[in-house]
Amino acid sequence: MSRRTRQIIVTSALPYANGSIHIGHLLEYIQTDIWVRFQKLCGHDVTYVCGDDAHGTPIMLKAREAGITPEAHIAKYLAEHQADFARFGVNFDNFFTTHSDLNRDLSYLIYNQIKEKHPDYLVRRPVEQLYDPKENMFLPDRFITGTCPNCKTPDQYGDSCEACGKTFDPTDLIDPRSVISGATPVLKESEHIFFRLEPSRAALQQLFNSGFVDAAVRNKLWEWFEKEKVAEDGTRTKVAQELRDWDITRDPPFFGFPIPGEPGKFLYNWFDAPIGYLASLGKYLGFDAAQTAQYWNDALEVHHFIGKDIQYFHAMFWPAILAAAGLRVPTRLAIHGFLTVNGRKMSKRDGTFIKASTFARHMDPQWLRYYFATKLGPQPDDVDLSFEDFRARVDGELVGKLANLISRAAPILTRLLEGKLGVPAMDAVGLLEECRAAAGPIEDAYEGRNFAAVTRQICALADKANKYVEDQAPWALVKKDAEEARGVLTAALEAGRILTIYLKPILPEFAARVERCLAIGPLEWKHVQDSMPPHTIAPFERLVDRIDPKKVAAMIEESTEGGKKLETSSQQLEASSQKPESSSQNMEANKPAAAPAPGAVAADPRATNSEPLAPTCTIDQFMAVDLRVGRVVTAETLTASDKLMKIQIDAGPLGQRTILAGIKQAYTPERLVGRLVIFCANLAPRKMKFGTSEGMILASGPGGPDVFVLSPDNGAQPGQRVH
Ligand SMILES: [Zn+2]
Repeated sequence: MSRRTRQIIVTSALPYANGSIHIGHLLEYIQTDIWVRFQKLCGHDVTYVCGDDAHGTPIMLKAREAGITPEAHIAKYLAEHQADFARFGVNFDNFFTTHSDLNRDLSYLIYNQIKEKHPDYLVRRPVEQLYDPKENMFLPDRFITGTCPNCKTPDQYGDSCEACGKTFDPTDLIDPRSVISGATPVLKESEHIFFRLEPSRAALQQLFNSGFVDAAVRNKLWEWFEKEKVAEDGTRTKVAQELRDWDITRDPPFFGFPIPGEPGKFLYNWFDAPIGYLASLGKYLGFDAAQTAQYWNDALEVHHFIGKDIQYFHAMFWPAILAAAGLRVPTRLAIHGFLTVNGRKMSKRDGTFIKASTFARHMDPQWLRYYFATKLGPQPDDVDLSFEDFRARVDGELVGKLANLISRAAPILTRLLEGKLGVPAMDAVGLLEECRAAAGPIEDAYEGRNFAAVTRQICALADKANKYVEDQAPWALVKKDAEEARGVLTAALEAGRILTIYLKPILPEFAARVERCLAIGPLEWKHVQDSMPPHTIAPFERLVDRIDPKKVAAMIEESTEGGKKLETSSQQLEASSQKPESSSQNMEANKPAAAPAPGAVAADPRATNSEPLAPTCTIDQFMAVDLRVGRVVTAETLTASDKLMKIQIDAGPLGQRTILAGIKQAYTPERLVGRLVIFCANLAPRKMKFGTSEGMILASGPGGPDVFVLSPDNGAQPGQRVH
């Protein structure tokens, strides 16, 4: 099979140098790495580059808080990120940083070329922004908190309300405060430079129509260009929607690149971040800025793997900036969805906000690579990591089917037939033909990022091969006819070898073990059509282990935010590291999907086992319990108790109550204050060691870190009775 060698540049999104890599990030890097490994296995010329996004206000402030320079701060994360990626087999050709001379040179080259070729694309406009008069700095939205103007929930960030979901401008907040100093921000004006997107409309539309994104994604993204207009008679038509200009300026103090020729102005880090793709490539090739730009322009294919949270930026601004600077636009965007765990958004409270390093400490990283592969399709659908399903996939498929084939046949051959391969048995010719014939469909599935289809096809073949071994029973056959048994085992191992080639992009470590065990050289895609010569195989080594449920539990426990109180400002800084400070541009309308699909939560039998159903009660008995809505006013952890928190509740007309609740291991005070809860209001007051408790807050769960406080929907008022 001879094919044209493709020359491909591949990137994953740049992680922000302000926090650790977690399993949500890994979804993208593993997806990209699998695709890259597949292309390389096929013999294509692929360069896979990435690096840390190392600029911006959150980094500057977090470094200041830690008492170190931003350079020292980002160096720490660069080393940590590289170690984490290596643990999961994510094999970049180069991992760089946006805080580098080469990235600065490239950013200036691109900025200056836009200015020269399309001066009308850059416009100056005064911007009114909230300013911290104590710290003398403009505040990004995430550094302002206040009360939601819509539902009046306190402590909401300056871009949207977590309680009611409404988005707004930070100036709309009631009683705004600077997260940094606590001061009341003031409005201040500053001149900014904007990149105009509207002149690129036609070029972007043409790009969208030329395979830049998958067809289904294209139709969704097209909504950015149009809005619906409803006429008086009710008829709806689509009309063009003006594309918003993008503010590419930041005022000092700022950690980033000064804008050439604009004293006191910095490039917004989202401008130089994607240019970091080119910088990483140039660094890898040993090029300067001009040489890198030239190489980029000449590249046959450029593929960006990104999450759907940054698709607007990568589909609109990035190609528009490149084209305006006279550079090639990317070939394709590969967009994936978000990761949920057990059907829910990852959360520190649930112990599902799992760092890459924590996962690798308790589990085999190959398991996660395999599991993600079984879940990833070509569409940007969210992927759920359900630990029940995870175990079923790893134990049932990876260990029980894929590894089983070789780990069963190889030791028998070694033990009973001196480990010497022969000629595959005649009755296995059909099986081996079928295995080889799958190369085409599996290739297509890899190319289209349909890794779920890849693993499905490989598992189906493994089922057939395992059944063949089962039916032939070589362990019994060897006593009657040794050469016939050798033929069966050789056929089984040949099938195992072919399937290992198919699996190699997903499981490079597994493949390396099979190569050692079968005593064969590094497998490539073209080797599917070969047959193993009759040589002696090596002693068997374990390919992959089953999941120990105790380790899953230990990992979740380690990831659970315990009673320990985190420093508020560092928590907020971390929150801002999860989310690019892009909201003032409103670049991303869609936020990580928090709500799982109905029925997505796998039923956990432990949820009901320990507490059998109580005897039937009458409506009168139920009505005797007076349940009310309350709002948590204050919450403090009692240091003398390892379970209790002292919570002050506002129950509207019923006044305030003090309740001692055993939820210290599951909640921090910050998570509770301002939140609506349900509590039993007519429970007899109970004297406890730490004071009197005047009620009970309703929660589910067995206790310890597994406590889940109930809340009413929005709109409920303190004091209302629950019926
Ligand atoms: Zn609200």
